Amino acid sequence: MQRPLEGKVVLVTGASSGIGRDTALALSAAGAQVAIGARRIDRLASLVEAAAGEVVPLQLDVTDPVSVQRAVSETVGHFGRLDALVNNAGLMQSGLILGADVSEWRRMVDTNLLGSMYAVHAALPFLLESKGAVVQVSSTAARSASLGSGVYAATKFGISAFSESLRQEVTRRGVRVIVVQPGFVDTELTSHITDPTMQAAAAEIAASMRTLRPDDIAAAIIYALGQPEHVSVNEILVRPTDQV
Ligand code: NDP
Repeated sequence: MQRPLEGKVVLVTGASSGIGRDTALALSAAGAQVAIGARRIDRLASLVEAAAGEVVPLQLDVTDPVSVQRAVSETVGHFGRLDALVNNAGLMQSGLILGADVSEWRRMVDTNLLGSMYAVHAALPFLLESKGAVVQVSSTAARSASLGSGVYAATKFGISAFSESLRQEVTRRGVRVIVVQPGFVDTELTSHITDPTMQAAAAEIAASMRTLRPDDIAAAIIYALGQPEHVSVNEILVRPTDQV
């Protein structure tokens, strides 16, 4: 079996379920040493068992810059370097703007946007040293907003802006910035929606198509990270074939 990421050290945020979990497993199978972060540490323990190589679980809340800094320091402390950050932790709480519970807006901005910025901020000195990579797990919602996804889409549009600015800042210093934009993936993401109409709509969309699986996105990430150093795959859009 090919191990294109042999010797690389990768930190994956939001690795306790869905895309993050499968990406961590795929990275491990590809030869990487992997640090995995999330709040549900019990879920991370089962990932450690399932992985092909060494995986280090870290308690991580991306909304807390101190926690993010600690996770990066622990990764580098354990493995001695950092070659890639997979900025994956995210939350979706769809709903209309009128009458919304704005605490849900704050949670999405804190997690999806500020959380991923904190992670870049903490990891960047080490990525500059290793000439590494940042993988931003964004969404098709970064390309077009839809009814009920205003705030979620705003966080993902924000990631596009931040990532492009980051790319211009670091690309000549050898750091690659990779934005991955998945369409509908079958994960726990929609389970956090509190609006019953939006919850039903999400279930209907899922039932109407052959959705992506988390390992489909993991494969895209492995592809991008496995390219030679002079090749920068800056954007990958992956939709289910059935998604219009
Ligand atoms: P899941 O809900 O399965 O996974 C979300 C992950 O994020 C969990 O591991 C969760 O861990 C973690 N997370 C949430 N909040 C925090 C936090 N404050 N600190 C640390 N970790 C956190 O959903 P997905 O796998 O689908 O989502 C992963 C990413 O993919 C997200 O950024 C999402 O926006 C994006 N995406 C998903 C799509 C889909 O259709 N599923 C489509 C497009 C993009 P824990 O709760 O243990 O902390």
